[in-house]
Amino acid sequence: MHCPFCAAEDTKVIDSRLAADGNQIRRRRECAQCGERFTTFETAELVIPRVIKTDGSRQPFDEHKLRRGMMHALQKRPVALEQIEGALSHVMSRLRATGEREVRSRLIGELMMEELRRLDQVAYVRFASVYRNFQDIAEFRDAIDRLDDGGAHE
Ligand SMILES: [Zn+2]
Repeated sequence: MHCPFCAAEDTKVIDSRLAADGNQIRRRRECAQCGERFTTFETAELVIPRVIKTDGSRQPFDEHKLRRGMMHALQKRPVALEQIEGALSHVMSRLRATGEREVRSRLIGELMMEELRRLDQVAYVRFASVYRNFQDIAEFRDAIDRLDDGGAHE
């Protein structure tokens, strides 16, 4: 960390403590050159990664698109809005937790399917059939088979 006063490269941390409910680390530093003291704040970067589409192009993560997809699958299904919001925020926190700057759209689809599988089986099959674009009956059966262990690992 360069000194903001004299731009010397050598500064040392003289104190370090948690701030803002533990979400930040506040550091007091001292410049070895000019002796000035200054404070830095360190915050974990929890951004949602960008999306790598199947054609290789990158897009910013789009929460509305995710919500639309989920709503569409859950159309006329007995699932409360609250549960849907919960599932969406679960998907997003899992994306943040990857720590990646970019993730494949396929991963997002898989996370969505996991959430839907727990919420509503009809919606899950609906979403899976559109998302997976089932090529044959075996793939469809595979998706149905996965219903049996739905949510078992959560
Ligand atoms: Zn300095």
